[in-house]
Amino acid sequence: MTTSTCAKPHPSQPVSLPVLAAPELQANPNAITGPRTIAAVKMLRISVTDVCNLRCVYCMPEEGVEWLPHSAILSFEEIAAVVRASVRLGIRHFKLTGGEPTARRDLPLLVEMLHRIPGVEDLSLTTNGILLAPLLPRLKAAGLTRLTISLDSLRPDRFASITRGGNFDRVWRAIQDALALGFARVKLNVVIMRGINDDEAADFADLTRTLPLTVRFIEFMPLGRSGLTDHPESAMVREEETRARIEARHGPLVPIPRHTETGVGPANVWSLRNDPVLSTPPAGRLGFISAMSHPFCETCNRLRMTPEGLMRSCLFEGGEVDLKPILRGDTLNHGDTETRSTPRGNLESVEDRIISAMTTSVQMKPEVHSLHGNQAMNRIGG
Ligand code: SAM
Ligand code: SF4
Repeated sequence: MTTSTCAKPHPSQPVSLPVLAAPELQANPNAITGPRTIAAVKMLRISVTDVCNLRCVYCMPEEGVEWLPHSAILSFEEIAAVVRASVRLGIRHFKLTGGEPTARRDLPLLVEMLHRIPGVEDLSLTTNGILLAPLLPRLKAAGLTRLTISLDSLRPDRFASITRGGNFDRVWRAIQDALALGFARVKLNVVIMRGINDDEAADFADLTRTLPLTVRFIEFMPLGRSGLTDHPESAMVREEETRARIEARHGPLVPIPRHTETGVGPANVWSLRNDPVLSTPPAGRLGFISAMSHPFCETCNRLRMTPEGLMRSCLFEGGEVDLKPILRGDTLNHGDTETRSTPRGNLESVEDRIISAMTTSVQMKPEVHSLHGNQAMNRIGG
């Protein structure tokens, strides 16, 4: 097992990571502080499928994407087992993502199952919004607390071209319905790309004058293969540049302190100033997620699980631990799927072994991530 640091192969060169069998690894008892300790983990992001109904240029290639076989994907019960173990580790915030999570059949059922697990305080969803509107009432009733919707352009034609076929009106309807249903502070994710949508930053900021949205501007990250793989540097727009565009129209942004908020994440949060004419405060906020120009590894408080049960330490190139052998009993010696003997003769449950695997996984976080990743976002879940 190694913790990777900053090796930088060419972005299009795949990097193979060790997939390690958790039971063979020992947790490091000396790691008691910092982001490599399990106590620092506050959020588990769960990618429930790699399948997607869009092909956003920054996330996937147009063609030739191979999906995982159905049998490789964790069942709802397996996901729930991981969430139960996570709660024992003190994790209270869970995010369902993908691929496109709404493409997974019976998603509200999964939400309901997870919501019922004692200790789950915050259950959120990141979605492209295409299939969302009709699902919203069921998701809300099932216990979904927060929503992030991706929207990279406010211009329907441009949106269709970035997503390679997405329908803007459907996403916009879902955003309006989510607000009407009372989802608190819906987030919009906007990946800003040079020459593609960077001229819309101030328009997106404008939305927050009247709508209680948090619009988050995300720097493009070169992960896996995508439509931008061949020229990632020219597509990336740094936070400073996006801010400057917004401030040129709206004036200096106002910082928002938020250490105590639910699921505090990687975004720096700001708001527009009060309306210059009416003096009314803006209804929403702005966030910047700048993993490329300002890596936030030191304060990283999340782990990510891929659809096939790899507990991944980092979005970029950190190591990962495979939970599937634990969940499916593949590594058990005695055909016992519930418990097994430890070297000291104690019985260890599946949950205990998930806990041990998660503890190992978090120790594999890199010091600082390099600026590329070997896996596409649709696998890892963003
Ligand atoms: N399909 C859902 C969606 O698009 O919201 C959930 C999964 S998607 C991988 C999660 C987030 O990652 C989205 O907000 C998307 O815009 C973002 N994302 C995907 N690829 C990215 C990349 N290469 N750089 C930065 N953000 C990316
Ligand atoms: Fe699909 Fe989300 Fe990736 Fe777009 S960003 S291709 S919607 S997984």
